[in-house]
Amino acid sequence: MKLKSGYIILLIALSFRAVPVYSFDMGVSLYNSHLVQSLVFTVVDGYFRISGEGTKPFSMGPGSSCFFLHSYDTLYVRNQEGNWFCSNEIQITGEEGSVFSLKPSDPVLDSREYHGDLALGISMRSLRIINLIDLETYIMGVAEAEAGPRCPLEYYKVQAILSRTFALRNLERHLEEGFNLCDGVHCQAYKGRHVWNEDVEIGTEVTSGLVLCDRDTVLINPVYHSNSGGETRGAGEVWLKEESYLLPVLDPFSNGQQNSNWERSMHIRDWLMYLLSYEIRFGEKADTAGLEMRLNHRQEYYRVFDDSIDVSNIRKDFNYRSDFFDVIVDGEMVRIRGRGYGHGVGLSQEGAIEMSRRRYHYTAILNYYYHEIQIVPYFFLDTDAGLEGNPLFSH
Ligand SMILES: [Zn+2]
Repeated sequence: MKLKSGYIILLIALSFRAVPVYSFDMGVSLYNSHLVQSLVFTVVDGYFRISGEGTKPFSMGPGSSCFFLHSYDTLYVRNQEGNWFCSNEIQITGEEGSVFSLKPSDPVLDSREYHGDLALGISMRSLRIINLIDLETYIMGVAEAEAGPRCPLEYYKVQAILSRTFALRNLERHLEEGFNLCDGVHCQAYKGRHVWNEDVEIGTEVTSGLVLCDRDTVLINPVYHSNSGGETRGAGEVWLKEESYLLPVLDPFSNGQQNSNWERSMHIRDWLMYLLSYEIRFGEKADTAGLEMRLNHRQEYYRVFDDSIDVSNIRKDFNYRSDFFDVIVDGEMVRIRGRGYGHGVGLSQEGAIEMSRRRYHYTAILNYYYHEIQIVPYFFLDTDAGLEGNPLFSH
């Protein structure tokens, strides 16, 4: 009997060892697009231990605050008793489940709440603020920041998989600066812990570890945009590099949504001046009807008077929402009647949200927008797939 229970314990121990690690810590630079000079750290929930060169470690409980200031390449700290000291690096380590808030005071920025730990130091001209955070908890924050707080649960599953795939594919993006990803649109938006919708948490947990791979089991570039206008574009048309999983699809789910349509107009004289900047001249005998373009499907070029301009150039020149538009002459005016919002490649967020409302499964939604993909747990990928764990923390 004794032997048997020992055997069972051994089996349990072995099976635990065989279970792959489901998550790991990431380093995310906070308020990365701002040169933060000072900020207040406050414990919202739980306990934190503060340590660093030049100070005896001390603990902080709920409601207590510390002030951090960068001045002349030195990091100054004022603890909760009002005493000042300086250090090069400060580590703030929380108990499991603890929460802290940050409030930059120079410049004044929004206060945000975070899980995980914090490492403070100095970069070239400001404080370096790095959140050391478990991957899955980070994904919850990103899913809410990227999708907004009011999506159906099924869409948060989609967004969690997209955000996780992006994070793992880009772990080395900021490695030389000492962190993995920044919290801005350069990487993906992260505004701290999710606070508005608990479906974000469920959507992330249900899809824990899942990522998107192409048919060769390599992590894909999970690009998405706000609204396709009814038809997505292939990657080759926009970025001149084909991807097997980024092909055009007809997308009726994007129609009738908030960002489905847009319109701009200008005087016909200004439109002709614009064409002239591309050396396209309006001949004396030309008819203004020749300026029109009415599309059933996306086109790469606006063809006018036997000449053409790349529609993506027109979008850039006028800062239009998309490069999917009709050109209509209406008396003295030229009306630009556009569809969709964004580059149009990959998944349409509004289309995918509509599919979620119509009760499509998250796997069906992802397979609709991405061609020949696989949805797999990232810890089943081998190193040839380009994934070797987090290079920041694997030493
Ligand atoms: Zn970045």
